[in-house]
Amino acid sequence: VFAHVVQAPEDPILGVTVAYNKDPSPNKLNLGVGAYRTEEGKPLVLNVVRRAEQQLVNDRSRVKEYLPIIGLAEFNKLSAKLIFGAESPAILENRVTTVQCLSGTGSLRVGAEFLARHYHERTIYIPVPTWGNHPKVFTLGGLSVKTYRYYDPATRGLNFQGLLEDLGSAPSGAIVLLHACAHNPTGVDPTLEQWEQIRQLMRSKGLLPFFDSAYQGFASGRLDADAQSIRMFVADGGECLVAQSYAKNMGLYGERVGAFSIVCKSADVARRVESQLKLVIRPMYSNPPIHGASIVATILRDRDMYNEWTVELKAMADRIISMRHELFDALRARGTPGDWSHIIKQIGMFTFTGLNSEQVAFMTKEYHIYMTSDGRISMAGLSSRTVPHLADAIHAAVTR
Ligand code: PMP
Repeated sequence: VFAHVVQAPEDPILGVTVAYNKDPSPNKLNLGVGAYRTEEGKPLVLNVVRRAEQQLVNDRSRVKEYLPIIGLAEFNKLSAKLIFGAESPAILENRVTTVQCLSGTGSLRVGAEFLARHYHERTIYIPVPTWGNHPKVFTLGGLSVKTYRYYDPATRGLNFQGLLEDLGSAPSGAIVLLHACAHNPTGVDPTLEQWEQIRQLMRSKGLLPFFDSAYQGFASGRLDADAQSIRMFVADGGECLVAQSYAKNMGLYGERVGAFSIVCKSADVARRVESQLKLVIRPMYSNPPIHGASIVATILRDRDMYNEWTVELKAMADRIISMRHELFDALRARGTPGDWSHIIKQIGMFTFTGLNSEQVAFMTKEYHIYMTSDGRISMAGLSSRTVPHLADAIHAAVTR
């Protein structure tokens, strides 16, 4: 009965790793997947995460019972504080509902399904380009996806005029997906002044902000700074949705730990919204896993562990920034034609190199360098040892 099922294509991002794994070359380099690597090219488990896990293991009173539908209450409270700020009026006034979800992706999906059921305008505007999973998650979540201009290939920066025009002509009430910081895949973020203009435009038109925060602390190394865009929207008292992920900033990728929050106008509304979020989650996966959320709560509740986390987080962010400088310098040293200053200007885990799919294919074939065909490279996958190899490949690709 399944003989008609056709072979599905590989996921465009995860498929890069599949191809990489098949390559026998000792010089191969995987710059596709957005996961942090050490200078030695190894995955990193943060020391503070190991400590928290040890503490959890030693606590014999811990059991493996089900969590409630919306997850670990303390985790939810601490996650809201982390993203909105401990003094956020929305939290103090109990206007925020936060539910534990399956990392960033699961948070986006729960948000989409809630909106499809309870919000009057089912259209969501996403930037061009955006993380490849966004359109699929929102469409399958029941929303209809439209786009707004974001990236300008000519300047390798923000197409701010295009963004304002497109949001300005979106129907009143439409949902707008915003990357809170470290836009994936471009690494291009609005300035705070531009965020303020976006906020004013959106609020004047009644557009509903849905923030995707997958990189808090990873962009600048400072947790508060990377949440600034969201806090501007919360400070004006309006509604706002946020999907939070701990994959990158705590290195908890495979633990699937994240949170979804809705900032409402009153505590009463927030309570009712939360009751409906339970109805979205219960038939989907019943309740979330306990381990990752317990790690996060252990770290966030303890001042000493929290401080250790911020130091380790800053070290990851700083290593990525130093890779940007090393790659930029290496291209300059080779006299590679073109302006490569975007490598040091872009923010977060990725550089949107501007290399086209043909150049990418050339680099994969001749240099065994793996990346997505849109020319996005994960700076976290680079090290001082591998920068020269990448610079050679880019140089060869653009001077061919
Ligand atoms: N949003 C963006 C913009 C991302 O880059 C990612 C991870 N690549 C996610 C969401 C979701 O990640 P996860 O589900 O692993 O938290």
